[in-house]
Amino acid sequence: MSRPRVVIAGAGFAGLTCARGLKGAPVDVLLVDRNNYHLFTPLLYQVASSVLDPGEIARPVRQLIRPLRNADFLLANVTGADFEKRLLLTDHGALSYDYLVLATGSQSDYFGNASLARHAFGLKNLDEGLAVRNRILMRFEESRWTEDRERRRSLLTFAVVGGGPTGVEMAGALSELINLVLRKDYRDLDLDLVRVVLLEAAGSLLGTFAPPLRDAARMSLEKKGVEVLLKARVEDVTSGSIRLSDGHEILASTVIWTAGVRASDVGATLSLQLGKQARIQVLPTLQVPEHPDVFVIGDIAGAVDRDAPLPMLIPVAMQEGRKVAATIKDLLSGYGATNFWFKDPGIMATIGRNSAVAELGPVRLTGFLGWLMWLFVHLINVISFRSRIVVLVNWAWDYLFYDRPIRLILRAAEEPPD
Ligand SMILES: Cc1cc2nc3c(=O)[nH]c(=O)nc-3n(C[C@H](O)[C@H](O)[C@H](O)COP(=O)(O)OP(=O)(O)OC[C@H]3O[C@@H](n4cnc5c(N)ncnc54)[C@H](O)[C@@H]3O)c2cc1C
Repeated sequence: MSRPRVVIAGAGFAGLTCARGLKGAPVDVLLVDRNNYHLFTPLLYQVASSVLDPGEIARPVRQLIRPLRNADFLLANVTGADFEKRLLLTDHGALSYDYLVLATGSQSDYFGNASLARHAFGLKNLDEGLAVRNRILMRFEESRWTEDRERRRSLLTFAVVGGGPTGVEMAGALSELINLVLRKDYRDLDLDLVRVVLLEAAGSLLGTFAPPLRDAARMSLEKKGVEVLLKARVEDVTSGSIRLSDGHEILASTVIWTAGVRASDVGATLSLQLGKQARIQVLPTLQVPEHPDVFVIGDIAGAVDRDAPLPMLIPVAMQEGRKVAATIKDLLSGYGATNFWFKDPGIMATIGRNSAVAELGPVRLTGFLGWLMWLFVHLINVISFRSRIVVLVNWAWDYLFYDRPIRLILRAAEEPPD
């Protein structure tokens, strides 16, 4: 008799953790992802700012599931599901399942603003991280050979929209890339023309952190030369400028958008109830109402804890993945599904060298201590031992020599037809 089949859509933090939780269980696991790699998102901004190479923050899924003898991988794009027939629909055909786990994450949300979607860079996946890196380096090359001062000002102004952890980290790293590294490459660079502007619509940065940490982050960024504009709501973006809702205009030909996020489009292809940020509404057991064989976890899941939606964060995704693996094993043993409870390990964000803020329960750290904590936590969580060594060497090189050797402008060649 064939064993029950668990199909997991998405090999991110939630999906991969769920697959690992099913190691050795009497089921066949099939992980499906449109990319053949698992991405460590917290360091994506370091790819965008030339600190790390993509291979240091991503690992092939097949390598990661090698120890799981009951798991296989399919490279495919998930397009929908037929819950009555128990099928996951992909561009590689329909996949039958006994249990389905939806874990396709989230994407940038431009809130219907067409100018933003057209001109701003997202920072959600490796391709976008590389595109940002290319753009920053290209702007410096162009500005070197541009006579017109206003045009140079626009080329050398980089706007990061969104004062959450990703925006803060990106702005800090970009300012350091320019002020510590690129200024040595471009000897004639007029630093008066260079601007890194961080725009936030709310009245403070890092709204989910305690107020003293928000202020510490802002001061630290300003010390590194980042202009922080609060209550600055972006209304329109063109190829060379940004207009704010108060009419203020900023000449900037690179805009990086980190201000909005919503659940993956997979949710919208299913006849399921969506909540805030288009996340799929789930029961406290992480099952979908009326379909007890379908689970939703990670960013795409609208799980609620004590009446508040759980944040789109890695600890939530991993804990949900672990829980669903345990529930599937319970169901196979004849037990019922139990509720998921989130244990919050804390939050942190770095503002570049020697500075970070961390809130771990009652403990609050800023400055150098916060930075050491950030380094430690991120290093041990990088996906493999080999990456840990390479990342450590790159960080040490950057720290000691004020240098980022990964400053390559790479363009994908067009592939010949199949
Ligand atoms: C730049 C950045 C920095 C971040 N920093 C932090 C941090 O420091 N700490 C923290 O806790 N959280 C951080 N986050 C949030 C964190 O990455 C997410 O909460 C977490 O990845 C959610 O896990 P997930 O498994 O739901 O989604 P993901 O890890 O995004 O995985 C989703 C997977 O689904 C795949 N997929 C999507 N659509 C399809 C489709 N149609 N077909 C097939 N496959 C599909 C994707 O390729 C991906 O592999 C950050 C996010 C970003 C973008």
